[in-house]
Amino acid sequence: MEQILNFIGGEHRPAASGSTLPVYDPATGSVYAQAPDSDASDVEAAVAAAHCAAKDWGRTPADQRAALLHRLADAVERHSEELAQAESRDTGKPIASARSMDIPRAIANLRFYAAAATQFASESHAMEIGAINYTLRQPLGVVACISPWNLPLYLLTWKIAPALAAGNAVVAKPSEVTPMTAFLFSRLAEAVGLPAGVLNIVHGTGPGAGQTLVDHPDVKAISFTGGTATGARIAASAAPRFRKLSLEMGGKNPTIVFDDCDFERTVAETVRAGFSNTGQICLCGSRVLVQRGIYERFRDALVAAVAELTPGDPADDATRVGAIVNLAQRDKVLAAITEARALGGTVLTGGEPVMVPGRCAQGWFIAPTVIEGLPADCATNQEEIFGPVVTLLPFEDEAEAIALANSVRYGLAASIWTRDGARAHRVAAAVEAGLVWINCWMLRDLRVPMGGMKDSGVGREGGFEAMRFFTEAKTVTVDHR
Ligand code: NAD
Repeated sequence: MEQILNFIGGEHRPAASGSTLPVYDPATGSVYAQAPDSDASDVEAAVAAAHCAAKDWGRTPADQRAALLHRLADAVERHSEELAQAESRDTGKPIASARSMDIPRAIANLRFYAAAATQFASESHAMEIGAINYTLRQPLGVVACISPWNLPLYLLTWKIAPALAAGNAVVAKPSEVTPMTAFLFSRLAEAVGLPAGVLNIVHGTGPGAGQTLVDHPDVKAISFTGGTATGARIAASAAPRFRKLSLEMGGKNPTIVFDDCDFERTVAETVRAGFSNTGQICLCGSRVLVQRGIYERFRDALVAAVAELTPGDPADDATRVGAIVNLAQRDKVLAAITEARALGGTVLTGGEPVMVPGRCAQGWFIAPTVIEGLPADCATNQEEIFGPVVTLLPFEDEAEAIALANSVRYGLAASIWTRDGARAHRVAAAVEAGLVWINCWMLRDLRVPMGGMKDSGVGREGGFEAMRFFTEAKTVTVDHR
């Protein structure tokens, strides 16, 4: 049994209480590691260590902070294969995805913010009367980074890297469902000589270690990615203490297919948008809206393509669809499919658990599922399922497409498929989403603001947005008349 440890004040150690949480391999359904079930005393120690380290780190010249982030990136790169294997086992995602997406993106996050540390600059505004304003962007001190299970190292580094680049000390709380790569990453942070206390990683549950961290008076900002209900709880705790908050939450994203789209490419990309990472990406297109003129043809082509996606052993190089991250999530997805059937939906493909023979016989797999025939306002079309399930909805014209796209409480992402450039821009402007892709999906540039509207988020990550979030703006005005 592997033992995951907390990383506090530059040292690896178990929870002070000795309590642990089981860590599962979703492909086999078995426990393969134990992680610390940290409590208030561990969080207290981590915040205290961060507090001690924050001043020196905040004064460390930007190029030295950048050099350390590059060293961390180098270390992740050297251990890519080990990290990809660990991510695949912990999440149930195919090893090919962990190799091509998760670990390369973690490296890119670290390198991007290493560069940002040296490029971030304060503004100055001259006044004609003979005065000048300049804005200092100062580190906040101790910040909390709370991340989910779907892209564990990718999203952890997406928060840690800008927080460190901006000169803060971090206490991170990775998901208790997938703690392994955060632990391996903390080993690398120790090995490359990140000063003690600059990065602390505390493992444990959301209501336990997570909530204690959010409530800690010395935590100046909270960067959270996870479910909308959790985000609401964190916002309610942080608001009376006026903490800076960045919330990246759920989505119910539309894929909007017009009848003049590039048909074959749109089918292929709709499948990718719906089922990448087994549908467990906040940006997945889970509602496929198709213009009436091509609805039947598109539906049949989509269903044929999805039916070919067979879940397999995540450790197998050829597998493209992996397991569902845990039993609770598998049951939640299956319950959503049962509900869709009860509401009158027709399951066109999938809709059932899948048994992958051999070592994965006890694993948690679901066949990629396409459902049609449900009203836009039913639970299946309104609530995030976060699994390999997409629904189909027909629309007549642009106005109806926009109305359907905007008919949910979420507003994270949308993709628009058409050859009519003017229409693409009109629809992009009208859709309520923080990210809109035209004739592409999840084409990411790390410089752009990333985040959601409505119940999908508050604030934006990415580029200098994250550097601004992790700093306090202080304006200094000089009268030089
Ligand atoms: P979750 O909300 O259950 O957990 C996320 C993190 O919050 C975990 O580390 C958890 O331990 C912690 N947490 C839970 N309760 C807490 C509390 N009271 N105080 C402090 N921390 C607490 O989410 P999840 O199930 O891990 O992830 C799936 C969700 O994340 C989906 O809704 C998905 O859409 C969302 N997500 C959003 C984005 C985005 O960028 N918008 C990206 C990835 C995932």
